[in-house]
Amino acid sequence: ERNFFENKTACVTGAGRGIGRAIAVRLAQLGCRVIAIGRTEDYLIDLAKEHQNIVPVAVDVKNWTATKTAIKPYLPIQLLVNNAGILMLNDFLNIKREDFDESFQTNVRSVISMTQEITKDLISRSMPGSVVNVSSIASEIAAKKFMIYSGTKACMDAFTRNMAGELGPYQIRVNSVQPTVVLTDMGKAAGWENQQQSAPLLAKTPLGRFAEIHEVVEPIIFLLSDKSSMITGACLPIDGGYLVT
Ligand code: NDP
Repeated sequence: ERNFFENKTACVTGAGRGIGRAIAVRLAQLGCRVIAIGRTEDYLIDLAKEHQNIVPVAVDVKNWTATKTAIKPYLPIQLLVNNAGILMLNDFLNIKREDFDESFQTNVRSVISMTQEITKDLISRSMPGSVVNVSSIASEIAAKKFMIYSGTKACMDAFTRNMAGELGPYQIRVNSVQPTVVLTDMGKAAGWENQQQSAPLLAKTPLGRFAEIHEVVEPIIFLLSDKSSMITGACLPIDGGYLVT
């Protein structure tokens, strides 16, 4: 495993906190140089103290041009994790135009700008690559107030399949993961610490619990690595069995 990751550059978006932060640290430990992208510079500077392989790059992934410019100096980037995401909860009847624009620009449009810049460069160098998109079980199900978020993740999974089709001939694989609730800042903000809210979801989860951060990180590492060399276009649930019930 170590051999695969050594001497490669990885890029993780939304690396300042939560799942993205843990992915960045793990990849750095495995020997990658990690380009850690996030909005808040302080979080990234703090993250960079955790490992010398981590390069903090503060940029808002909603900004198409700025993102592309920010990553250019670090190409070629063989491994990409599109993890940056926001959750704007609202009932359907109250959804604002801003909810849609902010959410789709952050969770979805950034997947195009980032992946395009990185894979165009790989193709020009005839280098293989692997991309993992951090989707959600919300892609597959309806939940109260989750319509916009759920839509962004369903779109992300559709992008995953389409990019896998187009980039496969260049030996660039594209997969997504669909985690259930993780109690990061986002998971907490969505109210999942509240037992009344979480009980029905947990009752429908065969493993009977939410995911820990490392349980999301390790499948992502697998999908980035050559251990998954024949897997592309897959959307992998990390849900304790929720989607089969
Ligand atoms: P957090 O809210 O804890 O962290 C999100 C990270 O994304 C932050 O570092 C944030 O930056 C960054 N980010 C958000 N918007 C932008 C932007 N415009 N530009 C750059 N960076 C941005 O979330 P999680 O770690 O929980 O979530 C990570 C991913 O996992 C998301 O895509 C989420 O949808 C998905 N997911 C999460 C689940 C959960 O229950 N937590 C379940 C299923 C999927 P900053 O620190 O500056 O705010």
